[in-house]
Amino acid sequence: AARTRDDLRCPVVVIMGHVDTGKTKLLDKIRKTNVQEGEAGGITQQIGATYFEKSTLLTQTAKLNETEKFELTLPGMLVIDTPGHESFTNLRSRGSSLCDVAILVVDLMHGLEQQTIESLHMLRKRGTPFVIALNKVDRCYNWVTCKDSPIRDALKVQSDGTLQEFRSRASDAKVQLQEQGVNSNIYWEMGDDDWTNSDFVPIVPTSAITGEGVQDILLLLCQISERKLWRQLMWCANLQCTVLEVKAIDGLGMTVDCLVVNGYLREGDKAVFCTLDGPIVAEIRGLLTPPPSREMRIKSEYIHHKEIKGALGVKVIGNGLEKVMAGTPVMVVGPDDEVEDIKAEVMSDLTRLQKKLSTDKKGVMVQASTLGALEALLQFLREETKPPIPVSAIGIGTIHKRDVTKISIMNEKGCPEYATILAFDVPVPREAREHAEEVNVRIFTADIIYHLFDQFTRFMDELSE
Ligand code: GDP
Ligand code: MG
Repeated sequence: AARTRDDLRCPVVVIMGHVDTGKTKLLDKIRKTNVQEGEAGGITQQIGATYFEKSTLLTQTAKLNETEKFELTLPGMLVIDTPGHESFTNLRSRGSSLCDVAILVVDLMHGLEQQTIESLHMLRKRGTPFVIALNKVDRCYNWVTCKDSPIRDALKVQSDGTLQEFRSRASDAKVQLQEQGVNSNIYWEMGDDDWTNSDFVPIVPTSAITGEGVQDILLLLCQISERKLWRQLMWCANLQCTVLEVKAIDGLGMTVDCLVVNGYLREGDKAVFCTLDGPIVAEIRGLLTPPPSREMRIKSEYIHHKEIKGALGVKVIGNGLEKVMAGTPVMVVGPDDEVEDIKAEVMSDLTRLQKKLSTDKKGVMVQASTLGALEALLQFLREETKPPIPVSAIGIGTIHKRDVTKISIMNEKGCPEYATILAFDVPVPREAREHAEEVNVRIFTADIIYHLFDQFTRFMDELSE
């Protein structure tokens, strides 16, 4: 069937920004859930997907739309919450970005922070359109709560002092954005020229706690999607699918959470997945989604499907999926396809990553739970540690004795500081620990990237003293 403007898919919306700006809380507000408080250290470690139905978008924007009168034709919206800007880079499939539009969350009280600036540059580099949620307006002095109301209604009832604080903080944020080369303005103060200028960024003041401005940001995302992005949102039948996470679920065995952007996935499909040990071909035995407005990371009553149409997040069940890696593409073998071609295609990203590594002969071992986390860590070590921490080996999942043995050769190579494993969010069984002690290998573990880095740099500092 021809692609048309009448058959749009859900836009894939990614929430980005510095840690603690309120990304997860903002989503919680829209979902009416409380994911944020259940997280380790309140920090998002894995990518989550939430599907909002058209009806939810309509109810959650009803008050604002009384005046805006926008006719919503999107079938819904798929919102991805990420641990940080690192994982944004994993939201891609064979070279192209899977993210249609982004929300960059900025804390009104703190202005632009490091990760926000990095996110900005990343979005610009990719050419991904975005809006800024200037969050935590409720923290302005004497803020009068107007629960879940459009932001302009809420501003109308604030005292002069509160408004003044809001104005001055918002204008500081604008100046800081300008310093990063980004033209922006409070969205209702933008002129027609600004809207047609694709480099101009709208700012929506919000509170993820009391809900002011949430209507505004939802409606604005719908408007941008339909008016500006409709070409790329025309649904197409070619499967575009990527693995977000692999995990065991009680009663289901190993499941693979996927983001299906375009095309169909069907029960019975012969699908090809990427693992460290090479490609695997598996029949899809089940396709599950959480109910709308619920997140895939959260245990809930799953809905079973015979067929999934993108864009949607889905939990795939099949045999032998234990070693599938997050951040890798999923492809289906069609009647006219050569299975070997599909395998090579599915493996191509990992192959590239491995080629890059083989150049570091001296360096630590990095072990993570998923390719997504691994890539994030590697990128962090390469680009955000000074000097960069060299990596000589990578691994996914539980640390085994053989991994310890492998990295212990750094002691013989005369660089004992690299006889180290940085283990991110993976189990370390006792025998691996004991063996590490015997052969002088250190294992640092953490489920927050920054903590791992801190442990390693502290260790390096101690060495140099
Ligand atoms: P994330 O790291 O960006 O996902 O941020 P979280 O959603 O985990 O929020 C970080 C902290 O800021 C939590 O303690 C939230 O309760 C708080 N927070 C988030 N949004 C708001 C807001 O709009 N107003 C206020 N007062 N606090 C907020
Ligand atoms: Mg979060």
